Amino acid sequence: MCKPESTSEKRKEWVAGKNSSNQSTPMTREQARAASLESMLSALRANGLKVTPQRLAILRELAGDLTHPTAMDLFERLRPGMPTMSFATVYNTLAALTEQGLCVARALEVGPVRFDPNMTPHDHAVCDRCGLVVDLPLPEAHAASALPGFAVRVVERIYRGSCAACASREGHAGGGLQATGE
Ligand SMILES: [Zn+2]
Ligand SMILES: [Zn+2]
Repeated sequence: MCKPESTSEKRKEWVAGKNSSNQSTPMTREQARAASLESMLSALRANGLKVTPQRLAILRELAGDLTHPTAMDLFERLRPGMPTMSFATVYNTLAALTEQGLCVARALEVGPVRFDPNMTPHDHAVCDRCGLVVDLPLPEAHAASALPGFAVRVVERIYRGSCAACASREGHAGGGLQATGE
């Protein structure tokens, strides 16, 4: 069904990352979202797909969405306003964006892949309990002790644990993941 990130990210990540750079030219959330939406629209056209109202709605929903939604999440969010839209439309649109390097299909846990419009290489924190996924900037010194002959493209880590809300609900205050940024 979904392509894991290893086959779909390729090198486009570095090219497309210009829209979500958090270093050289800081953008507001809204600017980043608009830029991301623009690139996604071009990608659809480059794929020979017409920008239908349904596809536009899918793009709008994903651009700037930091929750790493699954295809089903997006489908369920959009369905009330677009009752004729099929899951295949959602899935195929996401597949086209992934193919063009404009979002990443991430296997962060067992289950369906999650779609990530943040093309800047980053780490993730994943809550074991509620499934919250938070983007974390890469540490400066991310020691990539490469295997001999292995060309490292990117190193990304997944921090697993309990988010602040889940940790405090269970009375382990202070031990959980900090949900920063969103
Ligand atoms: Zn949680
Ligand atoms: Zn992410």
